[in-house]
Amino acid sequence: MNNDYDRNNIFAKILKSEISCTKIDENDNTLAFLDINPQSNIHILIIPKKPYVNIYDFNKNASVNEILDFWKLVNNLIEKQDIKEKGFRIITNSGKDGNQDVMHFHIHLLGGENLGRMITLNS
Ligand code: 5GP
Repeated sequence: MNNDYDRNNIFAKILKSEISCTKIDENDNTLAFLDINPQSNIHILIIPKKPYVNIYDFNKNASVNEILDFWKLVNNLIEKQDIKEKGFRIITNSGKDGNQDVMHFHIHLLGGENLGRMITLNS
């Protein structure tokens, strides 16, 4: 495990069922659940079940199976949420400049409405 990984971060607690979440989908290596503070009509968080701090750590250290499972679940969600044609946005924040709050790799899947153009700095 990456030494920088904090075993007590919120998503680690969700994975250990120490705190609850609204699960949307899962597979052997991946969990998807609703963001507690949604920024759009659809706002789903997708996380690997094993401990990775951010996308760099995941891409560098996860197994091929974990990476495949992760992106398969993303595509399942895109189909099930009916946003394949309408469109969506995927965001992952990393580190200080990325304003990452929870130090367990996750992506935000946003959609269900027009999301505007990208992001605004310092908003
Ligand atoms: P980050 O800023 O790290 O990319 O995003 C962390 C996300 O986790 C935020 O969108 C925040 O609303 C969400 N979040 C924080 N705590 C909880 C929680 O306890 N449960 C759920 N479902 N989402 C959370």
